[in-house]
Amino acid sequence: MTLIDPAADSERTALAPDSSRLPSRAARAWTERMAVRPRGNSTYAVTSESGHTYLVDLADHSCSCPDHQIRGEQCKHLRRVAIEITTRRVPPPGHQRARCDACGEVTFVPTGADPPHLCERCRLAPGDVVRDRETGKRLVVAAVTNDHADEYVIAATGRTVADHETNGGYPAADIVVEATYLTDAARRPDPKRYAFPHSRLAKTDEQLVV
Ligand SMILES: [Zn+2]
Ligand SMILES: [Zn+2]
Repeated sequence: MTLIDPAADSERTALAPDSSRLPSRAARAWTERMAVRPRGNSTYAVTSESGHTYLVDLADHSCSCPDHQIRGEQCKHLRRVAIEITTRRVPPPGHQRARCDACGEVTFVPTGADPPHLCERCRLAPGDVVRDRETGKRLVVAAVTNDHADEYVIAATGRTVADHETNGGYPAADIVVEATYLTDAARRPDPKRYAFPHSRLAKTDEQLVV
């Protein structure tokens, strides 16, 4: 392990821009109290410090406020929506807020996406190579189901994934992932699938190239 001498790490940075150096509209976009609410598609309602609510549409880069309508300016509301998207306070266009079905964190998913909803960290897709935390064996994800471990019945045993003896340490509410052993995956046509609680499988950065 290499420790970094704290004194060597002396580069100082600000996390927000220095508002005294920004043009006034840009500064106000950062510092004024505003509420931004997604309204669907690419539109956002922005309530400003003065209490007025304006509609920003990112698709045509417009705002219903006088500053934009009359003076054609890149107003503070348009800027604020962009800031709130960048800082992940509101979803980008075409996305909605959702709770990750695996870890419970708030994430953004495409509007209308079928469950399960998974955050970036928990997302698994067919072809992803994962490692079984119990055996260390590598598997290939075949499907991410929308069933919880205590709902999914393993046909061979008639018991649920949650009741399977080696799954005792994993939450019963985990969603179930079907996977094939990497060593079987090359075997055609249809390698046997096994069902696992999501948190039993550790992500790797490998993918099976078919
Ligand atoms: Zn505006
Ligand atoms: Zn998650």
